[in-house]
Amino acid sequence: MNFDLTPEQDQLRDAVRALGRRYGHDYFVTKAKAGEHTTELWDEAGRLGYLGVNVPTEYGGGGGGITELAIVCEELAAAGCPLLLLVVSPAIAATVIARHGTGEQRKRFLPGFADGSLKVVFAITEPEAGSNFHRLGTVARRDGDDWLLSGRKCYISGVDEAQYVLVVARTEDASTGRLKPALFVVPTDAPGLTRSKLDMEIVSPENQFLLYLDDVRLPADALVGESLDAGLPALFAGLNPERITVAAMGAGTGRYAIERASEYTATRKVWGGRTIGSHQGVAHPLAHAAVQVELARLMIHKAASLYDAGRDLEAGVSSNMAKYAAGEAAALAVDTAVQVLGGAGMTTEYGVATLLGAVRAGRIAPVSREMILNFVAQHVLGQEKSY
Ligand SMILES: Cc1cc2nc3c(=O)[nH]c(=O)nc-3n(C[C@H](O)[C@H](O)[C@H](O)COP(=O)(O)OP(=O)(O)OC[C@H]3O[C@@H](n4cnc5c(N)ncnc54)[C@H](O)[C@@H]3O)c2cc1C
Repeated sequence: MNFDLTPEQDQLRDAVRALGRRYGHDYFVTKAKAGEHTTELWDEAGRLGYLGVNVPTEYGGGGGGITELAIVCEELAAAGCPLLLLVVSPAIAATVIARHGTGEQRKRFLPGFADGSLKVVFAITEPEAGSNFHRLGTVARRDGDDWLLSGRKCYISGVDEAQYVLVVARTEDASTGRLKPALFVVPTDAPGLTRSKLDMEIVSPENQFLLYLDDVRLPADALVGESLDAGLPALFAGLNPERITVAAMGAGTGRYAIERASEYTATRKVWGGRTIGSHQGVAHPLAHAAVQVELARLMIHKAASLYDAGRDLEAGVSSNMAKYAAGEAAALAVDTAVQVLGGAGMTTEYGVATLLGAVRAGRIAPVSREMILNFVAQHVLGQEKSY
């Protein structure tokens, strides 16, 4: 058993940390409040190769795995810049295309993922289906060689920044007549695709959208993979990287909050000469949050190692557990940081309350804590499915 990163992973972590700190949380919040994107940070990270660490080298990427991408997600978040687009574009979309795209799709898309010039977001959630993906209502119909997509998606992150959206739709299996899932690469400016921005209570430069697909016409090669049979494995290929990188962002955010809070409580004095951090009522909640974050990091490390070793089934359990643990730990860490900072905790200046919405959302998305508990109860504890 080895808990160490490799020297290359160590170097990556230090370099991403340095980049993140150069931008910092003030930059992130200023962009969010101005309704702007973190384009400078994204572009610089792309030029430095950090956004393509998991893309195969033959397409210009770093040739690493989800372990490396999780390091990038965690360190940027630990610097106060949790970028959700890292989860949808390099973690989900690049993985799906690298693992299940046709040779032509890999050549076309992967170089853009490698340098970050291409952003592809991900659309599965629908208003009526919610957590129940078996109820997806977005349908893809054949029209000659083309596909026509119709349906609605909700909470789709980053559509305004992306060139493409990877849409999960249902198609009809000609042999059985049953509807089966398939993934389509849809240009965000495709005729028939419209969007409306959702008002979210999250301080973030990345936005969520409702998407309306009204007979969006796509060429045959918009379907990910060689045939409709690629749909289900392609969909599953994105899930573990999504959970691992979201968890890494949560752990990084937790570290950021604990660091801000510890700096404050180690110097603030309101009772004579002692710092507030000398009171266990202040120090213990922080220490407790630090333990939870560190435990989540261990599970993230395990999940990423299993995934990169190709042990997808075991990685599924660990990825879900890591996402659960990190979601809870991040929410606890930020809430605790706000509390120990007192009034300062609620100011924008001290940069912790600005993360409350994001960490709260991390307990809901991309898969809610309840759905993870359902998964663990059923697949680890052998309990009967209740829904
Ligand atoms: C900030 C943010 C960004 C997002 N970005 C994206 C994106 O880019 N792309 C995308 O496709 N989606 C995105 N989502 C959507 C997200 O994945 C969904 O919100 C999430 O999967 C939950 O679905 P729902 O909101 O429909 O909740 P529902 O399914 O309506 O669930 C509501 C509540 O009921 C609980 N519940 C439901 N079923 C059960 C059950 N069987 N047992 C126990 N409890 C249950 C849930 O846990 C939840 O607490 C985003 C959401 C947020 C908040």
